[in-house]
Order: sequence, then structure tokens, then C-alpha cells
Amino acid sequence: MSIQMVGFDADDTLWKSQDYFDAAQAEFESIIGQYIDLSVAGVQDHLLQVEKQNIAVFGYGAKGMMLSMMESAIEMTEGRITSSDIRRILDLGKGVLQHPVELLPGIEEAVDEVSRYFPIVLITKGDLFHQEAKVKATPLSKRFKRIEIVSEKDPQTYRRLFGEFAVAPSEFMMIGNSLKSDIEPILAIGGWGVHVPYHTTWAHETVDGIDESLLSNFRTATNASEIPRKVRELADLARPS
Ligand SMILES: [Mg+2]
Repeated sequence: MSIQMVGFDADDTLWKSQDYFDAAQAEFESIIGQYIDLSVAGVQDHLLQVEKQNIAVFGYGAKGMMLSMMESAIEMTEGRITSSDIRRILDLGKGVLQHPVELLPGIEEAVDEVSRYFPIVLITKGDLFHQEAKVKATPLSKRFKRIEIVSEKDPQTYRRLFGEFAVAPSEFMMIGNSLKSDIEPILAIGGWGVHVPYHTTWAHETVDGIDESLLSNFRTATNASEIPRKVRELADLARPS
């Protein structure tokens, strides 16, 4: 057994993403604040609940967020929100969808370095159209053998992809910012993971920590430039002795 392929997450691993969602949500709160007392309203909690319920309907991404904001705004203002404020919410969503791609510092070099030793693939969830546009906008995308935009990152999805890639889970390493989506499901099926934490994480993606029995297949890189070294460390462990 040795590592045959390395996967990269996209949002907040290759490029900025959550910052734009956070900014849109702060702006959303100020719109709602014109109607209700923010100190008692729990706007972000309400929005998160609506978003979670809507994942099954809209999937992940900025369009789902925008529609959930509208739904949440109508509920929280008991229908008093004006059409011009609904328009502002629409524009917040469009702003996230149309934001230029900003690669994270050091990630181009890290992707280059890792791709020298292993075939690399990109695995991301989120809005298909938005993700395709971002992939197209960056020169990095040419380095990846496959680009997979999936609706959920769970063990079943990864198993299906490994079947298509013709690799065993124990031959695959995933690099990403989300313990919940990029690391836990991979470790759970016997793969390897390098977590690269980002300074902000969507509340839906947070987990308490990694199960201790799985830690041997797991490393943390504090920034992109540490990724190649952590990948090599794990690849050495994966090699038959
Ligand atoms: Mg991510």
C-alpha cells in the first residue's frame, strides 16, 4: 500500500470563500435589524436553521444561502420586509456568486509541489455553476487530473469517486479546510488526511475533533506552504516497510 493519488478541496483550501459568505451574512443582519431588535432576535441562528433545512432542497452554495436569507427574512419580519430589501438580499447573493477568485497565499506553489509526486484531483461541493466558474477562472485547474463537483462529501461519495479513480481508500490522501467534509469521511474509510484550517468555518461544517483512533492517518498544516511536507510525512507512513 502506498499513496497513489492526492485530492484537494477547493473553497477555503485553494481560494477564499467563507469570508464572502460571512460578509454577506453580516450585511443580512443589518438589513433585518431595521425591522426587529437584533439583541433578542438570534438572526444568525435562525438563518443557519433555515439553511440546514434547505440543504436537502437547494444543495450547498451561495444560491441556497440567498434563498434561505429571503425565507428567513420573511419569517423573522413576519412578512414586513420590503421588496427593496429583498432586492438587497438578492444582490448579496449575486455579489458572492460573482466575486473574483482569490487564491490563498502559497497554494499555487503547494499544488505544484504535490503534483510533482502524485496525480492530483480536485473534489469540491457547492453550487455546480458557481464552482465551474471558479475552476475556469484559475490557472491552477489545469494541474488536476480530475475535477469533481459533488453534492455531498460523505463516505459514500468518496467511495464512489475512488471506484472511478481506481484507487483504494488506503491509497488516497485528501487535503482540505473542513474536518467534517474533507478529513473525517476519508479517515473513516481508511484514507489519509491533511487538514489546513481556515480562519473562518461555516457553522454547519464545524466538528469537535477527530476520533483518536484515526489520528495516525492525519496531519495538520498551519498554512499552504506546510502542505507538501505534511503530505510527504503521511506518504512515508503509508509506504510498505
Ligand atoms: Mg473547503
